[in-house]
This record gives sequence, structure tokens and C-alpha cells, in this order.
Amino acid sequence: VVELAGVHKSFGALHVLRGIDLTAEAGTVTVILGPSGSGKSTLLRTINHLEKVDRGRVRVDGELIGYRRSGNRLYELSERQILRQRSRIGFVFQNFNLFPHLTALENVAEAPIAALRRPRAQTYERARELLARVGLADRAGAYPRQLSGGQQQRVAIARALALEPRLILFDEPTSALDPELVAEVLDVLRELARSGTTMIVVTHEIGFAREAADTVIFMDEGRIVEQGPPARVLDDPRHLRTRAFLSRVR
Ligand code: ATP
Ligand code: MG
Repeated sequence: VVELAGVHKSFGALHVLRGIDLTAEAGTVTVILGPSGSGKSTLLRTINHLEKVDRGRVRVDGELIGYRRSGNRLYELSERQILRQRSRIGFVFQNFNLFPHLTALENVAEAPIAALRRPRAQTYERARELLARVGLADRAGAYPRQLSGGQQQRVAIARALALEPRLILFDEPTSALDPELVAEVLDVLRELARSGTTMIVVTHEIGFAREAADTVIFMDEGRIVEQGPPARVLDDPRHLRTRAFLSRVR
């Protein structure tokens, strides 16, 4: 379960998150929509403490992210403790960020070996299974530059899964891809959704939101202006801003 309560974040004078309250239950898919600059990426980044919140709390499975409480004061966790929390929260970006000098298989296996100190042989075996799951069993030995954008993004998803995260955050995972490659990545996301992975996905893919989301959230100017089941938010938006946005992206 992901819980944000009263989260605020500013960059200098720019008040980017203006009181975010959000709950994403375990095993559900939450899709976040909203115009450019509305704070979607910043919101995702607070969930693994890549951005420190100015006010409010972030909890994952009840555990406070980035801080520990002592009496009624909060202290920021050590870098090591933050990395430990982060290692259990998968993050897939727009631009894949694979290691160019490692093969697909090594990219997937590297993180569990380095971060979780898992035994090598077992980790490689598991990495092969994960590549098969994203449809890349036959490309394990390829380097990122030898793979299409869609294939690279699927490797990045397998890499996130390798850490056995309790949740995966996706920030516009298909927006850097050529249109014909988008579908193969969305197929993988759908499969993850069906398998009960907890996912929070920022995307402009309305079709994906409609089929795969349990909850659709619409953000504008640092606030959640609308949230609910996809049919409600997408087909019967209450808010003018949501309507205007949907008529533009459709
Ligand atoms: P997009 O759809 O374009 O990705 P977004 O909804 O993800 O937009 P954010 O990236 O969260 O928007 O940015 C929200 C606002 O915060 C923007 O005005 C952005 O310029 C600003 N911003 C984000 N990160 C920083 C930063 N590290 N320093 C200063 N300003 C920032
Ligand atoms: Mg963004």
C-alpha cells in the first residue's frame, strides 16, 4: 500500500505539489494523467525519496519513506537506509537508462547482485526468466545499442522486477518510443497488472488507462483534481480541466 498524506513540494518559489493525498492499494494499478508541468514526475519521485517532501508523509506498506520518527520529531534516514528503501521500489523511466557496456542479461542481473548481494548463479537464472517474461529470451546476450527502444524498455522493466519490488513506478515508459514500439511495452505492463504487481504509472496512453487501471488520477497545477475508476474519470469527468485535457489527448 502506498499512502501520501498532505504532501507539499516546492522548488524555490515554485510550489509544485500542493497537498497531495493518495492511496494506492497493494496489487492495484494507478494511472496518473495531467498536463505537462502539473507535478506528475515530482509526485513519483517523492515516493522513493528522490525528492524530499517539504510537508506531509509518504508511506509504503506502513513504512515511512525517507524518515524515522523519534518521539514527535522526524529525522532523515541515512543514505544507506534510503538506498535500502529505494531498492524495494522499482522505477522505470522514459529513457531506459540501461548500462551500455552490459548485455541485456547482465543489466537485469547486476542490480540484485550489487544491491541485494544475491548469489550469482541463481540471480542469472532468475534474470533469464525475467527476460523471457518480457519476451526477450532470445536477446539476452545483446547490448543495449543492439536493441530497439521497445526492447530496451522491456529490459529496463525486467531489471526493475529483478529487485522483487513491492511496487513499481513508471514515468512515461512509452513516450520516448516510436509509435509501432509502444504496443509491445504496453503489453508487458498489462501482463504485470494482471499478475498483481502494484503499479503507479504516469502515461498519456488513455487506452492503457482504460483497460488496466483500477484508479485514474488527474493532476493539475500540483493538485489531484479528480480520481476514480477509469470509466468514471475518462468517460464522465466532473472537472472542466479534466475534460479539456482529455479532449486534447484523444
Ligand atoms: P511532464 O508531463 O512535462 O513530464 P510533469 O507533470 O512530470 O510534466 P514535473 O516534472 O513534476 O511535471 O515538474 C513540475 C514543475 O516543477 C515544472 O514546472 C518543473 O519545471 C519544475 N521542476 C521539476 N523538477 C525541478 C527541479 N529539480 N528544480 C526546479 N524545478 C523543477
Ligand atoms: Mg514528467
